[in-house]
Amino acid sequence: MSQPAALIERRHGASPHSAQRPRVVAHSADPANQPTAPNHASFVPPAPFFERVQKATTQMPPTLALLLIDIDGFHDVNEIYGYAAGDRLLEALGQRLALQLRVEDLVTRIGGDEFAVYACDVADPGNAAVIARRLLAGLRRPFMLGGRPCALTARAGIALAPEHGRDPRALMRAARSAARHAKHADLDVAMVPSRAHAIAEEHDAQVGRELRAGMLRGEFKVHYQPILNFASGRVDTVEALVRWRHPTRGLLAPDEFLPIAERCGMARAIGARVLDYACANLRGWRAAGHTELRVAVNLSARDFRQPDFVDTVAATLARHALPASALELELTEHELLDGATAIEQAAELARRGVQLSIDDFGTKYSSLGYLHRLPVRAIKVDRSFVRDVGQSPASDSIVSAVIGIAGKMGLRLIAEGVEEVRQLHELRRRGCHIMQGFLFSPPLPGTAVDGYLAKAARTS
Ligand code: C2E
Ligand code: MG
Ligand code: MG
Repeated sequence: MSQPAALIERRHGASPHSAQRPRVVAHSADPANQPTAPNHASFVPPAPFFERVQKATTQMPPTLALLLIDIDGFHDVNEIYGYAAGDRLLEALGQRLALQLRVEDLVTRIGGDEFAVYACDVADPGNAAVIARRLLAGLRRPFMLGGRPCALTARAGIALAPEHGRDPRALMRAARSAARHAKHADLDVAMVPSRAHAIAEEHDAQVGRELRAGMLRGEFKVHYQPILNFASGRVDTVEALVRWRHPTRGLLAPDEFLPIAERCGMARAIGARVLDYACANLRGWRAAGHTELRVAVNLSARDFRQPDFVDTVAATLARHALPASALELELTEHELLDGATAIEQAAELARRGVQLSIDDFGTKYSSLGYLHRLPVRAIKVDRSFVRDVGQSPASDSIVSAVIGIAGKMGLRLIAEGVEEVRQLHELRRRGCHIMQGFLFSPPLPGTAVDGYLAKAARTS
């Protein structure tokens, strides 16, 4: 278990509403790990947090809640304001948490941006949830950082003793599992997950092992769906779509394994492999005469949060002797809203000549601000709107509005999921000339792309 890094403890009769400040005591097993702790000079070894939890769990009957509070996006705070400001903010966060608690409760910081709260005499799960919500509400009030207000959100996972664990380690494991559950289910507060959730976690772990083995055995393949440009009469791009040739379940679509890969830390390796295959194949097709062809690769938010992501992309392009303009990266709106790092990395890639497209446009927040902030070159209107174009006034207005935005901003507009000739005509009538969909071709194995391109060139 990680050592508590700083312990902030309320003592001596202050109530949650009293003006008395909590006593702040820095604690670290290794003071060298705390170079920026502002009270490092007055270091006083406190009764460590986990010792108190240990003591409480051995009392009969133990009635305590362990709340694990996970601050969202703290990484971005460090990136934008610097680590010293980040440390000050953590200190302030701890103080604010302590102010919401009773004297007999404890707060400690564990790991980078996680706080553990020990709330005693909380036998009732409902009470624990009330405390958690109060703490989170307190954190939502803006903090001043660099002279500007900075609002934070956080989630809490709750474990109760003795139901979820009889010692600090077991309780912490349970609270962590609850915090993970909160994150996946997009909840503010979650209790220790149910049995069903535990089974789902076990399933994830099993698939995670299979994903790792599959990676070693080369089971991940990339299929390519042609994107047709009716204005130029050519297939100018193919979209790379990952597949998993599972040894017993057959060919799996990304939705069946990418979410699990994200949860078990395999998404990055899969993403790097897809990028590498896509670039290698593109190099081959270009050498075979399709000299202007580009490849579009889908990315996840996680890809963009890797600090070395720009270098990985640049190195992959260089390895296959491709110019940056040969690559398009597709991001969903969701990815772009996922913090400053994603936006910065996307902007840096665009500066280097890689083209950015917004995928599944219209399905999430449709905040158009990033179209200004980012050098986006294309918008892909989601197939849910394409499906009913010409048949539903709502879809018609959305499709026409998106075509208008793209036209005014000089962006390429691509319609996804075109399945019928009717849709093709309706889209062209409204001014959309770039499309992909089963009407033209399903995603094809790499070996079939050359044949498709040759046929398309003959018939155009
Ligand atoms: P997407 O990027 O929007 O890709 C289009 C999806 O629509 C593909 O599903 C494609 O097979 C499907 N599609 C294409 N034309 C039609 C059509 O006419 N009708 C219908 N009903 N569907 C059509 P797929 O391959 O299952 O991929 C699903 C999603 O998974 C992709 O949506 C993309 O967001 C994600 N994805 C795929 N490959 C990767 C990858 O390598 N990395 C990441 N991060 N995400 C990926
Ligand atoms: Mg896509
Ligand atoms: Mg899409």
